[in-house]
Amino acid sequence: MPERVPHAELVALDRAHVWHPYGPMPGRSDPLVVDSASGVRLRLAEPAHGQRELIDGMSSWWSAIHGYNHPVLNDAARDQLDRMSHVMFGGLTHEPAVRLATRLVEITPEPLRHVFLCDSGSVSVEVAVKMCLQYWRSTGRPEKRRLLTWRGGYHGDTWQPMAVCDPDGGMHELWSGVLPRQVFADAPPAEFDEVYADHLREAVARHADELAAVIVEPVVQGAGGMRFHSPAYLRVLRESCDAHGVLLIFDEIATGFGRTGTLFAAEQGGVSPDVMCLGKALTGGYLTMAATLCTSRVADGISRGEVPVLAHGPTFMANPLAASVANASIDLLLAQDWPQEIKRLETGLRDGLAEARNLPGVKEVRVRGAIGVVQLDHDVDMAAATQAAVRAGVWLRPFRDLIYTMPPYVTGDEDLSRVCEAVCAAAAAG
Ligand SMILES: *Cc1c(COP(=O)(O)O)cnc(C)c1O
Repeated sequence: MPERVPHAELVALDRAHVWHPYGPMPGRSDPLVVDSASGVRLRLAEPAHGQRELIDGMSSWWSAIHGYNHPVLNDAARDQLDRMSHVMFGGLTHEPAVRLATRLVEITPEPLRHVFLCDSGSVSVEVAVKMCLQYWRSTGRPEKRRLLTWRGGYHGDTWQPMAVCDPDGGMHELWSGVLPRQVFADAPPAEFDEVYADHLREAVARHADELAAVIVEPVVQGAGGMRFHSPAYLRVLRESCDAHGVLLIFDEIATGFGRTGTLFAAEQGGVSPDVMCLGKALTGGYLTMAATLCTSRVADGISRGEVPVLAHGPTFMANPLAASVANASIDLLLAQDWPQEIKRLETGLRDGLAEARNLPGVKEVRVRGAIGVVQLDHDVDMAAATQAAVRAGVWLRPFRDLIYTMPPYVTGDEDLSRVCEAVCAAAAAG
């Protein structure tokens, strides 16, 4: 083992050399150093505001659903490590990938039958877009190459995903003039509204001749603003897409694997997409992996085209280590009464966050499944809000006007109360 770098030096080197997400170089403040993590707790290398351990209210960006250092997931990784950590996927295959793809087909909505395993959520969206554009090109409609989405979305940080992120106020606003110009409908209201449904129908109908696909996050818009909407809109989109010959992509990278109360959010609308993206919780937060699933219609269309291949193949495609942990994570999830756990978390979040409604500066408090959101009437003072949460012994990462939590599913009731107290403390401070 290399000798450990002293704490102060580690932080100094981090500031000198290491770029962090969505930040300048060097960062605006010193990041906390995490030494290890177990269950729902992050153990800090040095205490911060009197805390040596923090309860994780973020599931490491919504991925660590079973918590950290889980014995079952550790065993899966170790077993696979002793066989091989990686092997190329061109011309070769392996059991972890075959099992994972088969499992994903089994548990996702019926018509999704084929699985492209890639390395991150953003790449899975790139692949989804490529599939849809190529489908139309291959079936003689090359002019169908735009995308329609609704405002307030988030689909990742690479080029095509950025083009369908919320164009105003989102983190990719800077690029609005440079990115491919896609079609934006208004953001979906929380409740079903027939006027808005007509707006969606009309947008799809008007642009149908140039649209390859509609892409949305079903039920919950995550990093674009943590907004919830009626699942009935998913039916409206499915019907409009079918009526006008447009493919439908559901980005379930944030909502997949139970977070909103159903295994996949699409189930709440009772509809299936043509293409679905999964990521984040796929490996229980252990390793980076995502998946793009599609129907046989899409796969056949591509595979009978003028260039009858999907020209995509990441170096680390279907990484065996990640696939093994994903298999173990899905087994672990489905072996328990997970809907009951999500209900328990939903109730705990509703109770614990209710008092935030009385705080000055709080615009709205909303809970859906294991997602709790406090929206302020102003942008969060990140430093003050984060510090207040850490003082309360909890790790949160607010953004824009939002303080929210997506706790690991294994968070106990007492820890969940502390997370809620910390969200309220952060809202009061921020
Ligand atoms: C996080 C996220 C992505 C991007 O995934 P990465 O793994 O960060 O590239 C895409 N879509 C949604 C809905 C997400 O929440």
